[in-house]
Amino acid sequence: MPAIGATVLGYPRIGPHRELKKALEGYWAGAVSRHDLEHTAATLRRQSVRRMAELGLDTVPSNTFSLYDHVLDAAVLVGAVPQRFTSFEDELDRYFAMARGAASRRTRNEGGDERDQPDGDVGDVAPLEMTKWFDTNYHYLVPEIGPATPFQLNAAKLVAEYREALAEGVVTRPVTIGPASLLLLAKPDDEAPAGFRPFDRLDELTSIYAELLETLADAGVPWIQLDEPSFVADRDAAEITALQRVYQRLATLERRPAIFVASYFGDLGDALPALAMTPVEAIGVDLVAGSGAGRVAATPNLAGKTVVAGVVDGRNVWRADLESALGSLATLLGLAGDVAVSTSCSLLHVPYDLDAEPDIDSRLRSWLAFADQKVTEVVTLARGLHEGYDAVAGRIQEGTSARDDRATASSVVDPAVRQRIADLPPEASQRSPYAHRIAVQADNLDLPPLPTTTIGSFPQTGDVRSVRAAYRNGQIDADEYSSRMRTEIERIIRLQERLGLDVLVHGEPERNDMVQYFAELLNGFITTRNGWVQSYGSRCVRPPIVYGDVSRPAPMTVEWASYAQGLTDRPVKGMLTGPVTMLAWSFVRDDQPLADTARQVALAIRDETRDLEAEGIRIIQVDEPAIRELLPLRASEQPEYLRWAVDAFRLATSGVADTTQIHTHMCYSEFGEVMSAIDGLEADVTSIEAARSKMEILPELAASGFARGIGPGVYDIHSPRVPSNDEIATLLLRASQAVPATRLWVNPDCGLKTRSYAEVEPALAAMVTAVRQVREAL
Ligand code: GLN
Ligand code: ZN
Repeated sequence: MPAIGATVLGYPRIGPHRELKKALEGYWAGAVSRHDLEHTAATLRRQSVRRMAELGLDTVPSNTFSLYDHVLDAAVLVGAVPQRFTSFEDELDRYFAMARGAASRRTRNEGGDERDQPDGDVGDVAPLEMTKWFDTNYHYLVPEIGPATPFQLNAAKLVAEYREALAEGVVTRPVTIGPASLLLLAKPDDEAPAGFRPFDRLDELTSIYAELLETLADAGVPWIQLDEPSFVADRDAAEITALQRVYQRLATLERRPAIFVASYFGDLGDALPALAMTPVEAIGVDLVAGSGAGRVAATPNLAGKTVVAGVVDGRNVWRADLESALGSLATLLGLAGDVAVSTSCSLLHVPYDLDAEPDIDSRLRSWLAFADQKVTEVVTLARGLHEGYDAVAGRIQEGTSARDDRATASSVVDPAVRQRIADLPPEASQRSPYAHRIAVQADNLDLPPLPTTTIGSFPQTGDVRSVRAAYRNGQIDADEYSSRMRTEIERIIRLQERLGLDVLVHGEPERNDMVQYFAELLNGFITTRNGWVQSYGSRCVRPPIVYGDVSRPAPMTVEWASYAQGLTDRPVKGMLTGPVTMLAWSFVRDDQPLADTARQVALAIRDETRDLEAEGIRIIQVDEPAIRELLPLRASEQPEYLRWAVDAFRLATSGVADTTQIHTHMCYSEFGEVMSAIDGLEADVTSIEAARSKMEILPELAASGFARGIGPGVYDIHSPRVPSNDEIATLLLRASQAVPATRLWVNPDCGLKTRSYAEVEPALAAMVTAVRQVREAL
């Protein structure tokens, strides 16, 4: 068994120029052949393997490529295909049906089977549900596993990718999710009785992994990497014992590759000593998010094992502190059998290559590291560890001086921002009592009961996008751009008046994205040209980078909002993105606590709210769709996070007069752990997603003591379906049973930017009609 040496836990896969995205979307649209899709995928895989090997890794991962999602790949690997997809005979069709849904082959070819049809959409097969991958911005497909879900090994992809890399001259280490995490990431299928957990089937699933290991041994595979990230979150003693049982069993198989159990996004806690007691050859630990090398080194039974030390941050874009990373590696060296050097997690979460960013100035660039630069850091550290400091002294020095430069750069530290924060009195985060200000707002706004509004964006038509592009490329000047945007805003205002909405929006035509738009206008942020990161399937995001103290050099939205308000007597709602969401969807600083950065962003937003107010805007919505996304994985760390997250929102929204009404919007319907935090935001009105769950959330929210305005979404904007006024009226009546009508607002679930006007106009018309019916009935 070769040593692991320098390695990474995974590598980006969407393509340096998003080749996979384009091939996938072309294939789905029927414009790219299956052969061409497979050719693009194979080319990307081969390039990645060669690149990692050329950059100097000792061992290179494989099977980290995916046509859609690596959790879906793992479900397919073990044959856990829900019944409703089994009629797809072609494997690729079945795979994409699980990922994206599809027209049912059964309906077309074999006659229908009622049971297989999801509610309402006869003839359609619903895809697997999608949810967030731990606390990242990646989304995975949730396997559905019930008592009867078949398990059957299907190692074809994994073996083929191993052989493909071998043909390039690279012996790789296939990677997949381990059995325990795969089941913990899954949800029970619809057939499962109450109380059933996918995890109940761990022993059966472990048998499939045993078969996999034997198959890989036969193929000559030296190492397998089994990821068990679910154990960095809180797990009970039974789950940890089960984990130990799994690896005890797999590691005592006679015919198998060496086993590397990887973890990332936090500390393994009690799972680490449990794993260390099994005869697996290597254990991977995240030394960036986790509590550090000391704790790992104190774990008994590591002496015979390789510790794969994740010392290079796999999910942020900063150059590593090589000096301190070497220190951590040295701490481990004496205690483990061997120490391998790695990233803290897969590099899936960062862009490919800093060299693709010609616009970033050279000084700032010297502080950054994208995937390929991180691979090089890993290689440097491994050399330092094994050949001695002197072998890499030059490189370490270079890294240290870049970090020192960053620490003292005047573009990073803005004394004026620091002073403002230091001078903030505690009352800065406090408004007058709700009962008082809501009365003042009622006078100021004079709205009917059940006021109607929308969440902010209106459809982003091709025309709107091309005007923005033309301005960006210098084809039209600022005046032309402004006049085109004003025309669009006026059209949207008139449409809302015609539809009879009560609180209007300007429609956000000037915004490419709710975070990027502000990042481009704030000091302390930069945006990238090619820094794409996979969000799910073919979807990518380009997170901005917060590199320095944040401030607002000039108003960001006032021009558009006040223009819109000038067109109408009805209140136009100002529209801002909240501090937590700004950070959740960006690469953040690693040189100060996130809470500090959040306060700086909050102050910039606060400045904007006051300027909006001064221009006659009476309602301001501060969107925080991501507030739950940053919730720490361990319960013990959650209260502290929620405290500063709530505080940042309140700092952002407490600078306005009592007369100004603050709204917020969140995109999810299951609040659970964040319910009290939402109350703590003290927004005058909170809009949430509620249509799909048919207002189920409201009684729960009311019972928690939430007693301010609430706008439960009355129709689902994720679907092209136009709701009827009757169904909206039914939902509203149900809502009014849980929440007094005086506190109830009426709006769609989320922004309308991904929809077309053909859907939006009739849907909003139905919403307004429904409200009129309900107002009469109340
Ligand atoms: N105001 C934003 C919009 O309407 C909110 C988007 C969101 O919640 N993700 O597009
Ligand atoms: Zn939303």
